[in-house]
Amino acid sequence: MISVPLRPTPAWMSQANCQGTDTNEFYPDKGGDSTAARRICRRCPVRLECLKDALDRREKHGIWGGLSDHQRTALLRRRERQQAREAAATKQQEQAGNTCVTCDEPEDRWDTRDRLYISGGVKCPGCSRADLDEEKTLEHTEMAA
Ligand code: SF4
Ligand SMILES: [Zn+2]
Repeated sequence: MISVPLRPTPAWMSQANCQGTDTNEFYPDKGGDSTAARRICRRCPVRLECLKDALDRREKHGIWGGLSDHQRTALLRRRERQQAREAAATKQQEQAGNTCVTCDEPEDRWDTRDRLYISGGVKCPGCSRADLDEEKTLEHTEMAA
């Protein structure tokens, strides 16, 4: 006889508050009352683990981690939108690419017509000029000394 290994049970399940309770409470009919189940979840020490698990599995039925399928779907959508926003921000940052080490101005805003503009340079033309001015002042001071 072939022995089929049991599906591993996450460790947190042993602490589930819903153990031994009426399963029907957690699977109310459409539009049914889930207050009792939610109350059990609210006091559950592994509520977050349970919710995460249900979200990861895209669980379609029942109350998990105190949330209904509808609420979990809304949470997932919100999370996806946030991830999309973060990805867009990262992409924008990558596109902006090089920035001036002194003033942080992204290179795409540097004045390319400036004589001191260096493509991919470490400093924007303005900061390069300020540096040169400083050196000139220094030169003068040294000469005067
Ligand atoms: S959060 Fe609710 S459904 Fe999940 S383990 Fe706890 S009591 Fe059970
Ligand atoms: Zn600069």
